[in-house]
Amino acid sequence: MAGKRDHSGAGMFDEGDLVAVRSTQPLDRTLDYRAPQGGCVLGDFVEVPLGPRKVPGVIWGPGLGDFDRSKIRSVIRVLDVAPMRDEMRAFLTKAADYTLTPMPAMLRLAMRAPGLGDPPSMRKIYRRGTGEPERMTEARRRVLDALESYGGLAFTLKELAEMAGVTASVVKGLVKHGAVREEDSPRDLPFPVMDPARPGKPLTEDQATAAAVLREHLRSRKYGTTLLKGVTGSGKTEVYLEAVAECLTLGRQALVLLPEIALTAEFLTRVEARFGAKPAEWHSGATMTERRRIWRMVGQGGAQLVVGARSALFLPFRDLGLIIVDEEHDTSYKQEDGVLYNARDMAVLRAAMAGARVVLASATPSLESWANAEAGKYDRLDLTARFGDAVLPEMRAIDMRAEKLDPGTWISPTLRGAVRARMEAGEQALLFLNRRGYAPVTICRACGYQFACDHCDARMVEHRFQKRLMCHQCGETKPMPEACPSCGVEGKLSPVGPGIERLAEETAALFPEARIAVLSSDLFASARALKEKIVEIGAGGADIIIGTQLVAKGHNFPKLTLVGVIDADLGLQGSDLRAAERTFQLMRQVAGRAGRAERPGLALLQTFQPEHPVIRAILAGDEEGFWRAEAAERQAAGVPPYGRMAGIILSGTDAAAVFDLGTVLARNDGALRAIGAQVFGPAAAPIARIRGRHRVRLLVKAAKGAPLQGALARWLAPLRLKGDLRLSVDIDPQSFL
Ligand code: ADP
Ligand code: ZN
Repeated sequence: MAGKRDHSGAGMFDEGDLVAVRSTQPLDRTLDYRAPQGGCVLGDFVEVPLGPRKVPGVIWGPGLGDFDRSKIRSVIRVLDVAPMRDEMRAFLTKAADYTLTPMPAMLRLAMRAPGLGDPPSMRKIYRRGTGEPERMTEARRRVLDALESYGGLAFTLKELAEMAGVTASVVKGLVKHGAVREEDSPRDLPFPVMDPARPGKPLTEDQATAAAVLREHLRSRKYGTTLLKGVTGSGKTEVYLEAVAECLTLGRQALVLLPEIALTAEFLTRVEARFGAKPAEWHSGATMTERRRIWRMVGQGGAQLVVGARSALFLPFRDLGLIIVDEEHDTSYKQEDGVLYNARDMAVLRAAMAGARVVLASATPSLESWANAEAGKYDRLDLTARFGDAVLPEMRAIDMRAEKLDPGTWISPTLRGAVRARMEAGEQALLFLNRRGYAPVTICRACGYQFACDHCDARMVEHRFQKRLMCHQCGETKPMPEACPSCGVEGKLSPVGPGIERLAEETAALFPEARIAVLSSDLFASARALKEKIVEIGAGGADIIIGTQLVAKGHNFPKLTLVGVIDADLGLQGSDLRAAERTFQLMRQVAGRAGRAERPGLALLQTFQPEHPVIRAILAGDEEGFWRAEAAERQAAGVPPYGRMAGIILSGTDAAAVFDLGTVLARNDGALRAIGAQVFGPAAAPIARIRGRHRVRLLVKAAKGAPLQGALARWLAPLRLKGDLRLSVDIDPQSFL
């Protein structure tokens, strides 16, 4: 029987009522408890006893009553945070069903803030008091001026002392005289109020039209998704900030997802300039205190705008009105371990549940979003011109078959000349190579030995700056030896092929006078250090930038006018179904870094196959043509977005057991055949071993409308995983490694 309802509304439980609690413990059901003293409501975050432990959970509904009632224990306490909203429970349930993720793992994503149950701790804050100091000194005057110039605002002791340029004792002295008041205030303070009425930049006609449409959409207060496609530098950010302004005006909350934390610095500055205050910033680098504050304030409405990484989707927004997914094509939106979800798709689901709008912004949308817009499922807005006088860079191929290069070098004479010309003009050049480290392979010229990771089926890559070998799969590193570990011969270990560090070496030899900046994620100890470097480069602190795909993402380098792509063919090898799409996006994004200010840009692509259709499409800039061709091919093959796929990854330390499991699954495919789906495999994964675990893959393909998740669930349900065998399901896989 359901718990009896209080007359003040559905979902209220009186003390002693049976309630069903979902916890983050790996159980595939809710457990019944009794409501605590004072009762509780649906969605309340609670602490419950589980065996000898106390675990966090959420009141999920009335108790099921299928336990021995005499043994049912009581909820320990209700946490002092806003209850989970119905819409959030619905979102988590749907997301779990879609990704075939167990509910507890989903719930953990929604509770990722420490100390949620702790009472808000207090700290001292200081504001202007009514008294006057007996004697006014210069230092005291500065403190009072600082307080007065900010109206009624209060500050911490440290902030106030810093603002006034005085020591803490000066402030304390003023407290004694009553000129400054000391108060206790909760640590989790609301975020500064943003003012959406402040004027933005005057928009161009195109921009204004797009902004007006987005504002109109927001006023509907209904779900809908818009693909905002605009060439790099066309002012997409400017336009979607208008949508944010409308959302804030309506009193609803907005979320902006960015793919790369290094991008946020510039964005935060722009938000502050637009709305007069910084937004809440949610990312893995945030401190525990900051996370807790954001989580609580988002729930209470004390944070109007959150800028964050994909996990911000699981914050408990009180009234979410808008989600922006910037650079929506970016592969980092797909979480590749733990819960396998695509933040772009989950943003659409979250918004549908919340009655919010979604804006997917990109210069090079994913084929999925392009196809959804074509099919009329998404609205589409286009910005076709760069802002101001900036024009799109010219793109040209360098036919490497006709270039003369010394062995062990990768910068063609043509590219060299172009870089030199930019340097003489006082402009910046970017050399792009999507390969970290010194060289992809290190081989012993005496015996042919190649360094391989002990735990993975992968080569060890030499990172010469750090004098170490590194496995890019598991991150294991070891010092670079002098002698070959296999034959013992010294001085015969040689690099094969270029990595970004080797390219830097070649560049330094060619341009000894140039200031060279190497941008690769592994060369920076912290996100902050990387951010600082990017700001420094933007200000002109380098002549030549050498970078991996890290530099392709949205940075603004006004002096950059030349982009040289060292190996445009790199992404076209391999059998990944998105190889062409990725190459097209990456090349256009990288090229888009050039000529963002007054001076026109040039992109040069070194290629051995200038006739390749993808290379030709990139050079021609015929985007719609490229997408139509790519869509037709995928349609013919019945692959995403015109068919459905799921990857099944099996792993374990015993290779034979992993394979046997795969064979059993492939044989018992009745549930899949029932919906017309096919299973391929088992096959050793391209990376057949990671961290000592052998990996086997199966691939399930189904027609577009097929109820894939249900069939997968029925197919996998009888499975019992023995020993250390693991299985994970990747719906809509992006990576096939
Ligand atoms: P995108 O997001 O499409 O790459 P941005 O919004 O970053 O483009 O705009 C590119 C540059 O042009 C930025 O420096 C931005 O401040 C500037 N810009 C764009 N639109 C305007 C405008 N209407 N007025 C002034 N500056 C603008
Ligand atoms: Zn490894």
